[in-house]
Amino acid sequence: MDKVERYIKGIVEEFEGKTDRLKDTPKRASKAYRELLDGYKQNPDEVVGNAIYQSRMDDIVIMKNISFESFCEHHMIAVTGYVSVGYIPNGTIVGASKLARIVDCFSHRFQLQERLTMEIADAVQNVLNPKGVAVYVSGKHFCISKRGVKKQEASLTTRYFLGEFKQNAALRNEFLTSVAF
Ligand SMILES: [Zn+2]
Repeated sequence: MDKVERYIKGIVEEFEGKTDRLKDTPKRASKAYRELLDGYKQNPDEVVGNAIYQSRMDDIVIMKNISFESFCEHHMIAVTGYVSVGYIPNGTIVGASKLARIVDCFSHRFQLQERLTMEIADAVQNVLNPKGVAVYVSGKHFCISKRGVKKQEASLTTRYFLGEFKQNAALRNEFLTSVAF
């Protein structure tokens, strides 16, 4: 029994007492948590690999509505939502699916949405060195909707801009108009 299994067994016993019915749960749950938190084993350079291509494309490239699942690091409860990532190429583009992989790399960790937003932007900046990066995240936090203040419909939006998006309000607005919903 690994460490995570032992801790989950402790939680199960705290609520259920000793029971045979849930004897396989710690093993399964440990496996599930390791999968949902596999971002710790990934880094952006590795997930992007050699999927960077020369291109004379010079306008905004946007991958919109990338769904994500994460855990609020304060409550260890689910956060779900959507990430949109935009960048202005500087001679190279990245394989579009790799933007989604970068999102998974950082969302599959204990997170704060604000940090997640910045980490995704910084990663795109570092792997691609584009002229600008824009990230927009909309998240539902189960720690807010299902417990505590129980605000079912509340969602948190965060944005983060680098390079030309930071300097140019028209570019920012163009990005936000195409991704905000
Ligand atoms: Zn929370």
